[in-house]
Amino acid sequence: MTGMSQPAVLENFIGGRWTPSSASQHLDVTNPAKGVVIAKTPMSTAGDVDAAVKAAARAFPGWSETPPVVRARAMFTFRQKLEDHLEELARLVTTEHGKTLDEARGSVRRGIECVEVACGAPSLLMGYGLENISTNVDCTVMRQAVGVCAAIAPFNFPAMVPLWFLPFAVVCGNTFVLKPSEQVPLSQQRMFQLLQECDLPPGVVNLVHGGKDVVEAICDHPGIRAVSFVGSTPIARLVYQRATHTGKRVQALGGAKNFIVVMPDADLDRAIPIITESFYGCAGERCLAGSILVPVGPSHKDVRDRMVAAAESLVVGDGLEPGVDMGPVISARHREKVLGYVERGVSEGAKLAVDGRARKLPQDGYFVGPSVFDQVTPSMAIAQDEIFGPVATVAPAKDLDDALKMMYAHPNANATSIFTSSGKAAREFAHRATASMVGVNIGVAAPMAYFPFGGARDSFFGDLKVHGRDAFEFYTDKKVTISRWS
Ligand code: NAD
Repeated sequence: MTGMSQPAVLENFIGGRWTPSSASQHLDVTNPAKGVVIAKTPMSTAGDVDAAVKAAARAFPGWSETPPVVRARAMFTFRQKLEDHLEELARLVTTEHGKTLDEARGSVRRGIECVEVACGAPSLLMGYGLENISTNVDCTVMRQAVGVCAAIAPFNFPAMVPLWFLPFAVVCGNTFVLKPSEQVPLSQQRMFQLLQECDLPPGVVNLVHGGKDVVEAICDHPGIRAVSFVGSTPIARLVYQRATHTGKRVQALGGAKNFIVVMPDADLDRAIPIITESFYGCAGERCLAGSILVPVGPSHKDVRDRMVAAAESLVVGDGLEPGVDMGPVISARHREKVLGYVERGVSEGAKLAVDGRARKLPQDGYFVGPSVFDQVTPSMAIAQDEIFGPVATVAPAKDLDDALKMMYAHPNANATSIFTSSGKAAREFAHRATASMVGVNIGVAAPMAYFPFGGARDSFFGDLKVHGRDAFEFYTDKKVTISRWS
């Protein structure tokens, strides 16, 4: 005995049982603040997906006929389990992802709110009708579950993003297969242990770990009726095309490049701390993170100088430690990618006002110091690509029109914000923005669980957005019955 325990190899959850994957390959899950391996994700196969879909299909007839109020009750139980384990789940999120504990707690809370909204299913699932559409003829519309549904998640919100889908799919009477990100599978592993205690019949919820092969098997499987995807734009596009090709309904949320516009009349004392959090919170690894800071007209110098001071004062370290503002990025590979963009910005001629590479950082783990580029122009790679790291790019604009033109020229359109004290400017901005999540004096325009979440253009493929009323549309089909009794 060496006393050193081996990292656990995770199992899939299929048909109500923890089941070893048929994977021949495994991916190391690391704590990015320490660089140590904490678990191994099995890279499951199409055969594992097929077993999960078969279990879900077996559960579907009984579950879809279960009264909505009983289905909702299982979600009330799940909600309470999540609440009881909030701190444990948040610590798990920080340990596998690296974000600060406060951010992790907030993300679990946001996930719980999705379960709470789903608990309203008996009301939200109601149809509608009209009597006497013709003499003695009545018409009703009822919502019915669509069948086996699947969701594929990204690495940046390990606990929250799967909860954008699972509770809504399940209360609507569907059965469900989840593939978490292979980089952060642990909070989902724990959530499925909690789901096991919620009186759900076997096969209603299933978990299959893995990567590309699992995603492709989900897209192609004839037994799956609906697919939800969250991740980068190239993979979102691919999943949308491949899964719709086999007749599924699909919502695929992609990457982002979010413009934060600061008007000369903005209250900078209030705006800069909010903007700083938007750019550097979660180490820039949010789909709603500020990415391009656009000071308008004479505000440029003041906005840049304050942003520089704010970036320099951030405390970087292990997200579990108190007082830390920013944790590591997800992996060594991603750190290299982010640092590559810092090099690229310098070679493209942008002015590096804060060089994160010069920052003294913890030795272990995948830390990147916060950087600020000034004098960025829209054609530069740092203004085009989603860096997904703590790199702010300042691209000044002459006026609001000029700022909006910059936004129009970018293919992504997820979220955007304006900071101003002018109602007129705010209204014009909200009306004309390409992004479909708009903040006014808000740094991260994240719709709550009862509103629709999702971008536009290359940030979203599909029509129905995530959570809110759209979830009940996505997870049900409408049956129209026309009756004559006379
Ligand atoms: P990713 O696209 O690399 O991975 C997402 C999922 O796709 C994972 O489950 C992964 O296993 C799978 N995948 C990866 N490569 C694949 C391939 N070649 N074929 C099939 N499947 C594949 O994204 P990520 O790095 O995990 O997450 C970060 C991205 O997610 C960012 O672009 C971010 O903006 C985006 N995101 C968007 C939203 C939104 O609401 N629009 C929310 C969160 C994250």
